Amino acid sequence: MSPMRSQRTGAHLLNVPRSRAAFPHFLAFFLIFFSAALPDASAQWRMSPPAASSVPPRARQRPAPVALPFVNLDQVFAKWNFVREPTRVPGIARWKNASSQIESESGKTFITIHGVRIWIGSPISETRGIFYMRRADYENTLLPLVAPTLAGGRPPRRVTHVLLDPGHGGKDAGGQSIAKHLHEKNLTLDVARRLKFILERAGLRVSMTRTTDVFVPLSERPAMAARVGADLFVSIHFNALSASPSAAGIETYALAPAGQYATNDSRRATSGNNLNAREIGHAFNTWNTLLSYQIQSNLIRKTPAIDRGLRRARFVVLKDAPVPATLVECGFLSNPNEATKINTGAHREKIAQGIANGILRYKTITDAIAPPHHPAPNKPHPQFRR
Ligand SMILES: [Zn+2]
Repeated sequence: MSPMRSQRTGAHLLNVPRSRAAFPHFLAFFLIFFSAALPDASAQWRMSPPAASSVPPRARQRPAPVALPFVNLDQVFAKWNFVREPTRVPGIARWKNASSQIESESGKTFITIHGVRIWIGSPISETRGIFYMRRADYENTLLPLVAPTLAGGRPPRRVTHVLLDPGHGGKDAGGQSIAKHLHEKNLTLDVARRLKFILERAGLRVSMTRTTDVFVPLSERPAMAARVGADLFVSIHFNALSASPSAAGIETYALAPAGQYATNDSRRATSGNNLNAREIGHAFNTWNTLLSYQIQSNLIRKTPAIDRGLRRARFVVLKDAPVPATLVECGFLSNPNEATKINTGAHREKIAQGIANGILRYKTITDAIAPPHHPAPNKPHPQFRR
């Protein structure tokens, strides 16, 4: 994919008709989403379900629900001016418009947007060439990425102040590369310092949950976002998986929506979490998702690393964040090749630039949605003050 094409993401997956260019930004978004996308979204509730053969067994055992649980992807994308491209491989569907490409594969629990893997809660299913997505995935993941205002209204706040969270610290060293004598806590702090410099140069205010090698309890980190009045929370980590030294690549986590398993959990495990609990961070699902996608996509382009995708988890820092939040795993210390790269300042600088590009892209998209005359309050919401 060409770099130019891959830069068009998020809200810009939609073609903005030229005749509407004169409208204020927010109005344009509003008109497009409500003239083109809203009737479509409501139509999903009334349409026929896929044939019985493609309905997963668990759904088959239940009586038919009032709101049908599947969304016809062809209908969705047609309303957004995407055209289905013929593919030679059975079980794979690809939709394109002037600036965007989305791909899905029958039986897979992810879709691909601009080459970035987006993990969802349930597999895509196919019946007679029509591809279906679970409605929960449509609402929690696809809509936030393709039509964020339709999914989440306006962003909660204008991004002027970012809280960076260098993972681990002090007695908690995090993951490590024994061969290279690397400790995650030092690398996350180094990347956060570089990122702070880049974001400040771009005009943003930046705070950090720690600036030295000290231990900060997990619960205090998201709480700090409310205390300093930050607009975004970005947690920085490196992976380590000594049992599989070949594991490689970058992944970005957004809070798993209520009812959806974490990407790394099996269908019977929730890592001790209540699957249906409502967390503080759920209020920002659209913005968590969009922010995480922008960071993952820009990081992969900048480094370039293996894409492990936008994933979902119930990490404490994501559950408790009172602002849109994300957690990035910037590579594997347990992989000898990656550890060698991560050990260089040049590579860590690329990581910082990739994350910065993602944050700034998110800011551009959300600034265009929030009207300049009515900015979202830049103070912590009273309900989240601690
Ligand atoms: Zn970590």
